[in-house]
Amino acid sequence: MAEKKERIVQIKSEEEPHGEGVLHITHYKKSERIKRAAAVLGLCWLGAAGSIPIVIAHWVLVPGFLIAGPVFGYIRLNQATVKEHISGRCPVNDKDIKIDMEPSEELPKWTYCPACNKAIQLIE
Ligand SMILES: [Zn+2]
Repeated sequence: MAEKKERIVQIKSEEEPHGEGVLHITHYKKSERIKRAAAVLGLCWLGAAGSIPIVIAHWVLVPGFLIAGPVFGYIRLNQATVKEHISGRCPVNDKDIKIDMEPSEELPKWTYCPACNKAIQLIE
């Protein structure tokens, strides 16, 4: 099974004292990475097959999906850890917030608070 881990991160804003948040990470074992890679490959090739009947656009979509399948599959295969999201409190207005992370995103990073739209920095 995929292993879920949590790491403490700091949520900073320019004016207020910083708050703490929790970064949720999922670790995938090799067998799970292969399954995830096969799933994205299958999905892309299904997209290629599905776009064959679309007139004109299929000249772009079919080769696009055929190439995207192995590319995204390879990326997934090498993705041992995936950063899911950060949950914590906004340092500006003290509301509970949840910030979704892209799997490839690294900390520290600047983003906007989903509750008050102020700039906040996430630091490990
Ligand atoms: Zn906020």
